[in-house]
Amino acid sequence: MYEHDLRVGQESSDNGAEDLVDRANSAYNREFMLSISGSEREILLQIENALERIDEGSYGTCVNCEEKINHKRLQAVPWARYCIDCQELVEQGLPLES
Ligand SMILES: [Zn+2]
Repeated sequence: MYEHDLRVGQESSDNGAEDLVDRANSAYNREFMLSISGSEREILLQIENALERIDEGSYGTCVNCEEKINHKRLQAVPWARYCIDCQELVEQGLPLES
C-alpha cells in the first residue's frame, strides 16, 4: 500500500496527472472496499457518518430519540448512532419510534 501511495504521489507531480490520481484513488478505494468484509464496511460507513455528525454538531446524540448517548457507550463504540435503548430496538428489528 505504501509503495502504491508513493507511485500515485510521484505521478501527481506530472502535468495533467490529476485524472490519473483520481482514477488511482477510486481504483484504490474499490480494491480496499472489496478487500474488507461486510461488517467492516458497515463500521467504516458508521465512522464516516459519525464524522459528519461531528461536523454538524449532532455527535453524541441518538439519531432516533435525540437523547444524549451514554458516555461509556461512546467510549466503547465511538461511532454509535443510537442510545442503548434505540440500539436494542434496532437489533431486535423493531421499528423505531421518535
Ligand atoms: Zn435513542
